[in-house]
Amino acid sequence: MYDVIISGAGPSGSKCAEILAKNGFSVALLEKDSNWRKPCGGGVSSRIFKYFPQLKKLNPHTINKISMYSGDYHKLEHEWEGLREKSIVMDRLELDNTLRNVAVDAGATLLEGYLSCDFLTKMNKKIGIKAKTSSGKQEVKSKIIILADGMSSKLARKSGLRGKWNVEDLGLAKCAILEGETTLDKEGIHVFFRPYKGYGWIFPLGEKRFNIGCGTFEEDNLNYDLNEIYTGFIEDPHIKKILSGQNYKTIWSGSFPLPAKGVLKESLYGDNIMLIGDNAGFVSPISGEGIHPGIVSGEAAAEAAINALEQDNISKKTLKHYGKNRKIRKIIQNFKLKRSMVEFFYENKGRNLSNMFRLAERNDDFRENVVDMFLFNAVPSKEFFAKIRELE
Ligand SMILES: Cc1cc2nc3c(=O)[nH]c(=O)nc-3n(C[C@H](O)[C@H](O)[C@H](O)COP(=O)(O)OP(=O)(O)OC[C@H]3O[C@@H](n4cnc5c(N)ncnc54)[C@H](O)[C@@H]3O)c2cc1C
Repeated sequence: MYDVIISGAGPSGSKCAEILAKNGFSVALLEKDSNWRKPCGGGVSSRIFKYFPQLKKLNPHTINKISMYSGDYHKLEHEWEGLREKSIVMDRLELDNTLRNVAVDAGATLLEGYLSCDFLTKMNKKIGIKAKTSSGKQEVKSKIIILADGMSSKLARKSGLRGKWNVEDLGLAKCAILEGETTLDKEGIHVFFRPYKGYGWIFPLGEKRFNIGCGTFEEDNLNYDLNEIYTGFIEDPHIKKILSGQNYKTIWSGSFPLPAKGVLKESLYGDNIMLIGDNAGFVSPISGEGIHPGIVSGEAAAEAAINALEQDNISKKTLKHYGKNRKIRKIIQNFKLKRSMVEFFYENKGRNLSNMFRLAERNDDFRENVVDMFLFNAVPSKEFFAKIRELE
């Protein structure tokens, strides 16, 4: 019997496991497949180093510039060399395995090849997880269960904490790691907003390697075909200026959904169970950044679990500390605001978004505000929105 089982060893599960293990609790970290590469841009701001200083030792690919484009290709460029620490772009296979190893080094037990498929119950109480493995079904018991197995978690639905996502509550994205000649600045990322609810990106990963992708979100998931817009994106003349070479080698490609409407506040915890990361909606609306908020949710859930185990009370009432955590409340608030910004930006086929780019072209301070909002999670002022409206 473990103190805690965590289903899913992505960034949120691994952080959670590391903290619990460091505090002397026994943790089983169940992972269906450590060789699975999560479809993701792999872009992370330097805030991740506070949670995983170990990443610095890997010398990850660093970023100090961004070029952002509106749907009608107004361009905004910003560089933060010497002003802020550099951001990084990582291949998710390397990132996830590094974070898993940190949890294992802290004392967590990684159960590799374990696909969680149901709860183990006794007298209507969840006492563990049933998992499929190559050698048959396994049962793992614990006092607390934490679900960190991403968007498509079947257990989250079985827990009764949340239902199935509506397609309008999601982003849908397709991406690839390609290799070949480009005109990319090796320390610069490109983000392309579209006239519809969607965006694309090109993130350099090395000398010739880059991550490229695009997607739609909310109602436009139903109005656009993901494969078609991906092909259209790669072949767009503006993108071709960057993808100046020919015959790109595909290292890997994949597509995956992501939550688009913010944290599922009412679904975070129940009796001896908590949901973290993508599973609970910890992805920033607009930017799609989910690695850092997922890690923060893993930390908060670990702290709530430690408190509950120390009090020998694992009820919903005690686990509410997770939802009340200061960082979690801040993320919920911030994402709520971002949600309202999405509505504002995409009014009239993204007109306010285009106006924002036109203003940024003219004014350095405004441009910095835009970058702070998209990349570094800053909350823009009322004047920021007023200026965009004035341009109408
Ligand atoms: C196309 C795309 C691009 C993105 N780009 C970025 C980006 O550039 N930057 C950023 O910050 N965020 C990005 N995101 C969001 C980011 O990928 C997620 O928010 C982040 O991975 C969430 O981490 P997590 O640990 O909660 O879940 P995940 O990373 O999804 O990890 C879940 C883990 O659980 C495992 N698992 C799943 N089911 C089971 C099961 N039944 N049993 C056992 N294990 C299971 C999986 O194998 C996986 O290891 C992107 C998302 C998508 C879809």
